[in-house]
Amino acid sequence: MIVSEHPGRWNRRFVVRLSDGALVESVLYRGDTLCVSCQVGCAVRCPFCASGANGLGRSLSLDELEAQVEEIASVVARERGPALRGVTVSGIGEPLHNHDAVSAFVDRCRARGLRVTLTTSGGPLRRLREWLRERPHQGLTISVHAGAEATRARAVPHGPDLASLFAVLGEELPALGRARRKRTALAYLLLDGVNDSDAEIDAFVARAAPLGAPRGVMVHLYAHNPVETSAMRGVDRARYEAVYARMVAAGLTVRMSAQARIEANGGCGTLVALRR
Ligand code: SF4
Repeated sequence: MIVSEHPGRWNRRFVVRLSDGALVESVLYRGDTLCVSCQVGCAVRCPFCASGANGLGRSLSLDELEAQVEEIASVVARERGPALRGVTVSGIGEPLHNHDAVSAFVDRCRARGLRVTLTTSGGPLRRLREWLRERPHQGLTISVHAGAEATRARAVPHGPDLASLFAVLGEELPALGRARRKRTALAYLLLDGVNDSDAEIDAFVARAAPLGAPRGVMVHLYAHNPVETSAMRGVDRARYEAVYARMVAAGLTVRMSAQARIEANGGCGTLVALRR
């Protein structure tokens, strides 16, 4: 049940109460794409992200996942706004840690004609293989945020290490059809003093570039949103653009953060879960 609503310039953030009293958040991007939460908190505990600051409470059920779509779609329909066109499982939680419910949810969304995308930190790797190979989706983004193992361990502390993650990607991506490979992307969130050095970027490029040869794999280069639970900060615009240019010059196809992702209201890493 929706308990409050917070409009912003690009995003509309909804606080949703679950049956046991826990609270999660869902965000309507640009009026037609809903970002849903799949867990109360997150066990991956990325230190820049408010969603995992208190660890994992529990996973959401299929009904709880669907309720986010149904309730917010009804609000939009009552206002005669544009109909929902897509859903992204990129809110609070790690989708692959709630694999069964998320898989069924994706199937139901697709049956309703909604485009579905997901964001994952990559583990468990056997689940990542399933999503890469055969699970239906319109976009799978794998959060990397590092070129060196020590940085990965700091930025994504309970995700798979880089060697294991890129071994799976190296095995799976070349075997995918072109369309499916184009729907797979890597994410790199720039953090000041953590993963923004030239050496770190070059190490990331060295891992990523062979995956999508000859044109390079798609990379989403994310700007960081400051959150109260973290002392980590993003880089300034000049450094952000310099990193973008460095990745492009090295042969990667890179997209910068959309405005919706860098809005304090519901942007990347800002969503908060409260346990019962
Ligand atoms: S960024 Fe994603 S995987 Fe990391 S703690 Fe936040 S919700 Fe979890």
